[in-house]
Amino acid sequence: MNLRIPGPTPCPPEVLAASARQMINHRGRQFAALIGRVVERLKRFYRTQHDVLVLTASGTGGLEAAIVNTLSPGDEVLAVVIGEFGQRFAEIAEAYGAKVVRLEYEPGQAADPAEVRRALARHPKARAVLVTHNETSTGVTNPLAEIAQAVREAERLLLVDAVSSLSSIPVETDAWGLDVVVSGSQKGWMVPPGLAFVSMSPRAWEAYRQARMPRLYLDLGRHQRYLERGQTPWTPAVSVLFALDVALEMMEREGLENIFARHARIGQMTRDGVKALGLQLLAADERYASNTVTAVRVPPGVDERALRRLLEEEFGVELAGGQGELQGQVFRIGHLGWVREEDIRQTLDALAQALPRVGYELPARA
Ligand code: PLP
Repeated sequence: MNLRIPGPTPCPPEVLAASARQMINHRGRQFAALIGRVVERLKRFYRTQHDVLVLTASGTGGLEAAIVNTLSPGDEVLAVVIGEFGQRFAEIAEAYGAKVVRLEYEPGQAADPAEVRRALARHPKARAVLVTHNETSTGVTNPLAEIAQAVREAERLLLVDAVSSLSSIPVETDAWGLDVVVSGSQKGWMVPPGLAFVSMSPRAWEAYRQARMPRLYLDLGRHQRYLERGQTPWTPAVSVLFALDVALEMMEREGLENIFARHARIGQMTRDGVKALGLQLLAADERYASNTVTAVRVPPGVDERALRRLLEEEFGVELAGGQGELQGQVFRIGHLGWVREEDIRQTLDALAQALPRVGYELPARA
């Protein structure tokens, strides 16, 4: 199956083989060496000199950790929302009693850093800004460096969901001044689901000491203390860590810049291919179209479920549907992690053959 969903993504055979290894003592020396190596490598991909913690959780657990370790009930928070995952980040903050102000955009739009700056001026008490770097539900990448600059000028805390960007498109944790950055193993890291990564800047640790939201499993201070002796506070997903260790080694061999270039090339190839079929991207401005996932508008009269079923059953290509209010309106092509041009070529060929069978007329040139 050509699994073209934006996570879980396909894993290289070496990575899968690593995940089948025998268990080790998670309080022993072998584990200490493993977690130490993984964290040092993660820091290089995060482009940070500060702390990165590895949690046994999905990406959402990482987002929850970002909230509960830096905020208190009643704190005002500005949530920049451009899709489902921005909405989820805001909901987590609300669930723990934050007073959330939303800066919301239509699906397909990126956030405007100037508007973030103005929203912060209107809300001088907002302690933190929540932002999704790459909105997986709409295939849009926010201009994070510029948004971060606005947040830094206003001296607020910046919590970033980089679940579907970090590892595949540039994120400069320290240079951009990002306080907490969350990612998840099943995305561009080429690893099965089960681990979330969370970076903490010195400012984030300062906020941690004041934060009063309840926390226990996700208490990052506790995770940091255990990490210093080569452990995690709770039993970790050891198999996923074995897999991650191998994946990070492969990623280092390919090189960060080469990985970014491959994603940029494949993202462009996907967008060009989709447009050549006469289809429209959901991304309103292609400058912000994501290099890890492309959301495509379903053409009028086409049953999106029937299209995806046909692609899966007859062509061995599995795409993702739309989420939330975009259900039935878009389908999504994942192109992050272990992905080559050939996978996209096959996907586009399959679309070209399947679309006419669900009532869509291809343009003459396609
Ligand atoms: N944020 C973004 C941008 C995502 O793409 C995802 C996963 O789809 C998540 C958060 C949530 O991650 P998980 O499903 O691993 O909890």
